[in-house]
Amino acid sequence: MEVIPIRAPRKEVVRSGLNPGDPVSASEFGVVRIETAAGIEGLGEISITFPRLGHPLCRFASARIAPELIGEDALAAGRVLARADRLLEGVEGGCYLRAAIAMALLDTAGKCYSIPAWQMLGGRVRERIPLAWGIYQKAPEEMAEDAAWAVREGYSAIKLKVGRRLEDDLNAVRAVAQAAGDLPFRLDANGAWRSAEEALQAIHAFTEVARVEWVEQPVPRNLDLLRRVREESPVPVMADESCRSLRDAFDLAAARAADVFNIYVAEAGGPREAAAIFGFAGSLGIPCILGSQAEMGIGTAACAHLGVSLPDLPHAFETFGPLRYVKDIVAAPVRIEGGYLWPPEGPGLGVELDWDVISEYRG
Ligand SMILES: [Mg+2]
Repeated sequence: MEVIPIRAPRKEVVRSGLNPGDPVSASEFGVVRIETAAGIEGLGEISITFPRLGHPLCRFASARIAPELIGEDALAAGRVLARADRLLEGVEGGCYLRAAIAMALLDTAGKCYSIPAWQMLGGRVRERIPLAWGIYQKAPEEMAEDAAWAVREGYSAIKLKVGRRLEDDLNAVRAVAQAAGDLPFRLDANGAWRSAEEALQAIHAFTEVARVEWVEQPVPRNLDLLRRVREESPVPVMADESCRSLRDAFDLAAARAADVFNIYVAEAGGPREAAAIFGFAGSLGIPCILGSQAEMGIGTAACAHLGVSLPDLPHAFETFGPLRYVKDIVAAPVRIEGGYLWPPEGPGLGVELDWDVISEYRG
């Protein structure tokens, strides 16, 4: 097991409610690479943008996880992951590293059995996954240009980062609404509003100028606050930062604090763990989407394999990460076209590293 830290330049600087005054121009991620005694390679991706834990996690993985897992049976994923879980106890952002290990094990098993990862996740129930396009905080006219592009491309929805001064947000939403035609809006505050009252005032203002599909994480990670917004909101409320694990999903459902969940393979701790949250929420009638840490080719491939094997997919996913980068770390780009995502063909995750890009981005 080898862990490679990378620093991948983004096409545009990331500005959202999570990092006011601290724009991000490159992703500090990592690649987990397993090689079995028989020479089979399995790949996983450590993808986390905020907080900036990608490289500390890579160092932890090299120093503390890899030496413990080398020699294990890569096909005994349950046992290997249980061991990783014990080593990751109390490690900040441990789920992102766990997810990378889980992906790499799934990839290894698929290649060993010569079947695609979706086959191991329950079988393919759809060819492709509809996507929503995400627009960062910038000048309203630039945001409107992005929206017009998304409409032309065929995206199913538009997601906007809000949570600035209400007047700035409203200018952005108005500009994008003009360019977005009939596409529904997802407004993501990343917890920027500090009270339920502040959130509700903003939500009411947005619904007057745009067709809002839902408002995402209007307030910080606090069940009571979120529930209070949900009870009075004229549009559905999505939990994102509040919904990282199956336990979070349980707490949110018990508190009736959200209408929709935004789930991440990277935060759930792997594709199967994300599927478990979809299953739990689905049994309660709570729809979910897969969100994105702007994963590159490996992480997005994992999302795609999971997405095509989920029985219900009521809303477009946000797993368009590779489009955020100047270059990807995988040899053949994951297919994202016309507002849809396809899982790569071939066994396992179906991706291979581009070693030239890896050498260039090694960080
Ligand atoms: Mg979000």
